[in-house]
Amino acid sequence: MKRLILQIILRLGRYAILPVVALACTILAIWLMIMDRYTIAALATAPIVFTIFMAAMALAIGLLFLPSRKHRSFEADEETAPGLWAVWNELDRSFVGSNRTLRVDTDFNASISEESRYAGLFGQHVTMTVGLPLLMILDQRAVRAVIAHEVAHARLRHTSGGTNLADFMAAAENVFLYADPEHTVTGYTVRILLHSLLERLEKEYRALSRENELAADVEAAEQVGREEMARALVMMEVCGARLTDLVFAPLQKEVLGAIKAPLPPFARILDQIAAIRAPGPMTAAVASLSREHDPDSTHPPFGQRLANLGYTDIPDIGEVQASAVDQLLSPDAANELTCRFDEEWPKKVQEWVSVGR
Ligand SMILES: [Zn+2]
Repeated sequence: MKRLILQIILRLGRYAILPVVALACTILAIWLMIMDRYTIAALATAPIVFTIFMAAMALAIGLLFLPSRKHRSFEADEETAPGLWAVWNELDRSFVGSNRTLRVDTDFNASISEESRYAGLFGQHVTMTVGLPLLMILDQRAVRAVIAHEVAHARLRHTSGGTNLADFMAAAENVFLYADPEHTVTGYTVRILLHSLLERLEKEYRALSRENELAADVEAAEQVGREEMARALVMMEVCGARLTDLVFAPLQKEVLGAIKAPLPPFARILDQIAAIRAPGPMTAAVASLSREHDPDSTHPPFGQRLANLGYTDIPDIGEVQASAVDQLLSPDAANELTCRFDEEWPKKVQEWVSVGR
């Protein structure tokens, strides 16, 4: 039964709530019909029936009218990112330009998502998001492997199920904007109904994501080669750790005690780029192999990802070549983007501090 519910949510996303609403409406309709004949029974059950109905309505409103997520990213057309588009085109066998959107954001990461527009009549629309720090720090070979990994997610159809599940979970949280669980019976009932479901869904989601990561690594390795995929994983691990140590950890410290806005992130990355990209020892990667894994992570441990590609040890990544950004974005785009992201940044600081990341 639980598996069935998960399957329904994977397919329908937040629309999985519609059958529940239909059931609540049916209960209400039956109750109204028996009202005349069994008045006492109807009155006695009124609180239960109304609570079920109101809870279903709150769920429906919360889940269907999800506030649109604001993109903190920038859409990159073929003029802005000719190299990235070319790599995507080369690696994606089902590439159709009109069904693809490329975005650049501020993460040291990449992701891919898929949505069916007009009920899937015109095929799937795929959006790939590549982080600007990733392009600045990795070389073109590593970025190519990362894109192959993202394309593999889309090809293996990981994208729609995962997106639907994430969508459903986000929408479920949204319900409490309409029905406050502390002050309304409806909200309280909905929270009880959703709580165990969400907990289970999150667990399933993490397990599913990890399986998907490993499968995408293998699929990408078939396309770009096992060595290239492993090399990209090691580079991401090493450079990611340095990025945290040299840029984000000091930045976070300064933000917490700041009177005036500290130097923004991209200016810092540019300052530290040589140290982040330095070929040096791979102690960070070795440390990651033995580090305890975060049980809440949607990604499998680094060691498991390497083992999955057939490596028991950290492979030698060879030379770190020129930064990918100059080859993959147009000459002005990188400068413009770093400036734009850094300009927007002070507005986010307040929010950042209050979230307390
Ligand atoms: Zn992935």
